Amino acid sequence: MNPENFTRRRFLSTISTASALAMHPQHVFAEKPAGKKLGVALVGLGRYSTGQLGPALKLTTDCRLAAVVTSSPEKGKKWAAEYGFPESHIYNYETMAQMADNPDIDIVYVVTPNALHAPHTIAAAKAGKHVICEKPMATSVKDCDAMIAACKSAKVQLAIGYRSHYEPCAIELKRLAKTAEIGTFTKIDGGFSFVMKKPEWRIQKSLAGGGPLMDLGIYVIQSHFMAAGDVMPIAITARELPKQRPDFFTDVEETIEWEMEFPNGLRGTARTSYNQGRNEFRAESATGWYHITSAYGYQGHQAKSHLGPFSFTALPSIQAAQMDAFARHVRDGSPNQTPGEMGRRDLVVVEAIYASAAGKPVKLAF
Ligand code: NAD
Repeated sequence: MNPENFTRRRFLSTISTASALAMHPQHVFAEKPAGKKLGVALVGLGRYSTGQLGPALKLTTDCRLAAVVTSSPEKGKKWAAEYGFPESHIYNYETMAQMADNPDIDIVYVVTPNALHAPHTIAAAKAGKHVICEKPMATSVKDCDAMIAACKSAKVQLAIGYRSHYEPCAIELKRLAKTAEIGTFTKIDGGFSFVMKKPEWRIQKSLAGGGPLMDLGIYVIQSHFMAAGDVMPIAITARELPKQRPDFFTDVEETIEWEMEFPNGLRGTARTSYNQGRNEFRAESATGWYHITSAYGYQGHQAKSHLGPFSFTALPSIQAAQMDAFARHVRDGSPNQTPGEMGRRDLVVVEAIYASAAGKPVKLAF
């Protein structure tokens, strides 16, 4: 293995490999001529859209920003001027259905609070648009089912905004899991946490569905599945840690940790918190290890193994790669790396973690 040899070519060939979960073709592809940039409508112009997705859409090669959905007409006008789309392409949450009449919109990207992912995805599907929905896919498996059904019935494609599938250190994790090049993983551990200072919708159960597990822990669940080769765990146990700031975290957990056991004996441990700081993932085999720091950030990911540090070529924007891949999926029929079924699978795990932490029976049916 030569970690230095991670080229863009290999990155592209890695991401074009179909995962088992991507095999749910539902739609007639190639509805736009090959090469045509598809139009994206961003739903929700909050921090992630403003700081990451908008700028990424200036770098995409297969899609471009064509419309927005916002409750603020002023904000919509600013985006229209900056991104060069007509003001008639500014919608609000009540007029989303009118997107059906706009052929310039191919893909709707849902970037609103978690509990709104289901209604906004379903509205977009009913308008006949393909959908990217941010993580977590929804706040319940039941909502995931309704979203998948709506997209199937409208014959549109659905992907979850799991950007890590386009991030080189995570792609290498998937490759190492598949090839067992540094041995079969036996132990994995990850954590993603930060200290939340100001209250926001993320600590309101009605909008967030839960606490850090929904928001941050979902990334660690993704890493566990990458290291386990996308098989379902056979057991999950979890516990919520006592709150250090009970007056702040009144509605959701502050810190939760869990353990997953996979059919081949692989054991995964994880913790997520809104009152601690950690951002890393580690996989170990009998003969070696692979460790990612800044594992879940927007940039600064670093990977090391027992053989030494890796030096991956940083992408100009992981989100641009993610959106371009979905646009190619819609336009050209290339694999959907992060389909709705994957988002649903992760919600099955999230529900199992919450159930175990609450002392209830754990259901792991996919
Ligand atoms: P945010 O609070 O900054 O923005 C939320 C947007 O939704 C705002 O524009 C707000 O006006 C709008 N909105 C519509 N209806 C609302 C309502 N009833 N209550 C509150 N806001 C409402 O949040 P964000 O950080 O941009 O997160 C949005 C989504 O994106 C979340 O699901 C989050 O998990 C996801 N996200 C993903 C990543 C990633 O790396 N993939 C990073 C950050 C956020």
